Amino acid sequence: MSRLRVGQGFDVHRFRSGRPLRLCGLTLPGAVGLDGHSDADVALHAVADALLGAAGAGDIGDHFPPADPRWAGADSRDLLGRVLTLLREMGWRPVNCDLTIVGERPRIAPHRSAMRAVLATCLELPEPAVNVKATTAEGMGWIGRGEGLAALAVVLVEGADEP
Ligand code: MG
Repeated sequence: MSRLRVGQGFDVHRFRSGRPLRLCGLTLPGAVGLDGHSDADVALHAVADALLGAAGAGDIGDHFPPADPRWAGADSRDLLGRVLTLLREMGWRPVNCDLTIVGERPRIAPHRSAMRAVLATCLELPEPAVNVKATTAEGMGWIGRGEGLAALAVVLVEGADEP
């Protein structure tokens, strides 16, 4: 019987003008960017945290500390790749991933299929095993005021067969 573990990830980043918006591995032209030490890709950070959570391997801040200049401006696809390598070394591989992006703007719908393709590639999964959703906060709270974006992710990972 295979070993299965589930992990969740949650991340938020504040909007900051003058930076490109990196979201789920894409650059969205014309959109206000997010503040952060790396490329501030809130979606991929949530996925990375979900993977680390499933493996019982801490969180993204443990592995890529914001104070470490190595990760300044880092491409979060690279960070996610490093997380996957770590999981592989621990004997885990992703089975599926469900990602939800929460924000008032920009509209995610036009980019959803491209985001799904990028995320599937990053996770080395077929596209049907990866889902990208988006919702707004209906104008409520800090997300509703357009101060930033949040993302939530859930992943299932499978380990080597138990004896
Ligand atoms: Mg983050």
